[in-house]
Amino acid sequence: QAKAAGRNAIRFFDPAMQIALEENAAMLAELHQAIDNGELELFYQIQIDETKGIQGAEVLLRWFHPIRGMVSPLDFIPMAEESGLIIPIGRWVLESACHQLKVWENIPNRENWQISVNVSALQFQQENFVEIVQEIILSNNINPHGLKLELTESMVLDNVDIIIEKMHQLNQLGIDFSMDDFGTGYSSLSCLKRLPLKQLKIDQSFVRDITTDPDDAAIVQTIINLSNSLKYDVIAEGVETQEQRQFLFNNGCSQYQGYLFSRPVPIAEFEELVSSMSVNFAAALD
Ligand code: C2E
Ligand code: MG
Ligand code: MG
Ligand code: MG
Repeated sequence: QAKAAGRNAIRFFDPAMQIALEENAAMLAELHQAIDNGELELFYQIQIDETKGIQGAEVLLRWFHPIRGMVSPLDFIPMAEESGLIIPIGRWVLESACHQLKVWENIPNRENWQISVNVSALQFQQENFVEIVQEIILSNNINPHGLKLELTESMVLDNVDIIIEKMHQLNQLGIDFSMDDFGTGYSSLSCLKRLPLKQLKIDQSFVRDITTDPDDAAIVQTIINLSNSLKYDVIAEGVETQEQRQFLFNNGCSQYQGYLFSRPVPIAEFEELVSSMSVNFAAALD
């Protein structure tokens, strides 16, 4: 092709870029097969309320590639979104999460636990998204109140009315919504108050330096106050230290998710964590 362009054509050939492109194409082809090959797995990260105990978990997707090993969602979700593969992958995530919910429904004291599922823009924009979710709920015979969908602010910038309508329909089924990474996007307050949300999730970038950076502290306080005003729950992500937890609690946020409690872990490890915590709760009551 370079020849066809003529001998004087100026061509930039960057071998590094070429390799990156080929690498990308290979990875995409492999991602295509990942569901069928059983290479996808959900990890569970516990969500805790200081006053009410365990609230449930957020499911976070992991891809175990036979050669590459564990691939971070940060590396393959964008690719899945660009290629449209996020549609079947997102469906698999929802189905697996609902399957787990069904298991939890039959365990005492877990009636109010919820599983939070990240939903990507393309997935939510599917015309039949509501029907898909309904179908998964019906076929697994689960209580829809156990399901919480995490959206991001960028998803509600365009076609707000259609998005809100869809949220209402899902709400009617009993499903809750959380606004993920809150504070990092551009959603306006007038838009925010129209959304039928259950929860705002304070982005971890604000939590990180909450005890040392007065700006971050002020932002977090503002988000907590906003949640109270709009009657939304508020949860902080990325809680890693007791100091952060204390700051959040003192300022009116009692729900947390972060390494302080647990990293996202496979379901077996999650169950171990829960039973060790139950023992601790019981010990604390003695
Ligand atoms: P997210 O939904 O905001 O998830 C929180 C991320 O923060 C997770 O990264 C989690 O492992 C990490 N995290 C949790 N606690 C801490 C902490 O205390 N400190 C630090 N430094 N990090 C913490 P992960 O699992 O790598 O996921 C990254 C992003 O990938 C997620 O961000 C979400 O946007 C996306 N993602 C993951 N699973 C799915 C999925 O099933 N579907 C879609 N559409 N996106 C997903
Ligand atoms: Mg999330
Ligand atoms: Mg987040
Ligand atoms: Mg985040």
